Amino acid sequence: FAPWTDPEEKPLIQFRNVTKRFGDFTAIEDLTLDIYAKEFFALLGPSGCGKTTLMRMLAGFENPTEGSILLSGQDISGVPPNIRPVNMMFQSYALFPHLSVWENIAFGLKRESKDKAQIHARVDEMLRLTRLEKFARRKPHQISGGQRQRVALARSLAKAPKLLLLDEPLGALDKKLRQDTQFELMDIQEKTGTTFVIVTHDQEEAMTVASRVAVMDEGKLIQVATPAEIYEQPNSVYVADFIGEVTILDGHGTRTDDGYDIAIGEGLPTLRAKTSHDLGAGGKMHLAIRPEKVAISAEKPTDRPNALQGKILDIAYLGNISTYHVELPGGTIVKAQEANTRRLSRRSFTWEDTVWLSWTDTAAVVLER
Ligand code: ATP
Repeated sequence: FAPWTDPEEKPLIQFRNVTKRFGDFTAIEDLTLDIYAKEFFALLGPSGCGKTTLMRMLAGFENPTEGSILLSGQDISGVPPNIRPVNMMFQSYALFPHLSVWENIAFGLKRESKDKAQIHARVDEMLRLTRLEKFARRKPHQISGGQRQRVALARSLAKAPKLLLLDEPLGALDKKLRQDTQFELMDIQEKTGTTFVIVTHDQEEAMTVASRVAVMDEGKLIQVATPAEIYEQPNSVYVADFIGEVTILDGHGTRTDDGYDIAIGEGLPTLRAKTSHDLGAGGKMHLAIRPEKVAISAEKPTDRPNALQGKILDIAYLGNISTYHVELPGGTIVKAQEANTRRLSRRSFTWEDTVWLSWTDTAAVVLER
C-alpha cells in the first residue's frame, strides 16, 4: 500500500514555492513538495544542499523567506516548534544523562502533566516498541550506542507526533549496527503509522528505509520518486551518479523509431537505446548504465545490440561481486559487474585482458542533462 498513490489522499505536508535565504545566500530556492501521511520520506543530498534547512523549517526552528508550509492544509509558518504536532530526533540524541531510560522517555509526557497511569502506560508501550524493557532503569551511559538511539526514538514518539523528523539518526552507529537499525526503524515506522522524514547523506540508507526519496542539490529538488524509480529511471546525470555505481557515456543522439542511436566517439560503435521519453530530434545526450547491466565476455556476443571492446584496468573484489573497470579505445572507462558465483581460482578475467562489454537496448537510460 502506497499512501501517496491514493488520489483522494491530501498531503500531510505541503511546501509551496518555499525559498529560504540567509542574508544574500539562498539555501532553498522556490521548492514545492508534498509529503503524505504514513510515508517514510528521505531527504538526500550532499553536504550543504539544504536538507537540514528544509527539516528545520518543518520543525519551526526556521521560517521560509518566501512561500508557505502547510500541515494538514493549514499554514504553519510562524507557529512555534512546541505547538506543532512535530518532533525532531537529533543526531546527538540529546538524552538527559542524569535521568534513567524510563524517565527520559517520560520527560515530555510529564511536562504535559497527563495523569500518572496514562504516562506509565505510554512509556511501557514505547519501551516495548523499541525493545528496551530490560533497560528501563539504566542511565544513558550504562547502555550501548544502539540502545541510546532507540531511547531517543522512543522519547520522540512518546507524544505521538504526526510527523517525526530524523536528522542523520544512525550517523553515530557503525556500519553493521546501522544496517540492522535501518530495518528496526522501518518496522517502528510501520507499527506507529507516524510520518517519518529522514535527512541523510547516505544514499544506501535512504534507499533502504524510505518509501520515497527526494534527491537535492544546491537548494533544489532534482528528483522525487521511489527508490526503485530513482535507481532505474534517474532523471539526470546528477541523480544517476549520486545513487549507486554508474558509467556515464557522453555522445550525440539521433532519434530512431523507439529511442535514440548515440554516437560516443570516433572508432567506437554507435549505441542503441530504447526509451519512451522524448528528448527531441537529436543532440547532445548522455547514456547512464549500471555496472550490473553490463555483461563481460571473451568473445563478441551476437545477441546484444551494444557491444564494445576494451581492456581491463582494475578489478575490485567485493566478495559477492567483482567490479571491472574497462578502458575503451580513446580512454573512456566503463564499469561492469559480475556476481562471484564461481571460485576465485576459476575466474575467467584478469588485468590487461581484452574483453567485450555488452548490454541490451533497454539497459541504459538516455539523459538530456
Ligand atoms: P549537511 O549534510 O552538511 O548538514 P545540509 O544539506 O543539511 O548539509 P544545510 O545545513 O541545510 O545543508 O545548509 C544549506 C546551506 O545553507 C549551507 O551552505 C549552509 O552554509 C547555509 N546555512 C545554513 N544555516 C545557515 C545560517 N543560519 N546562516 C547562514 N547560512 C546558513
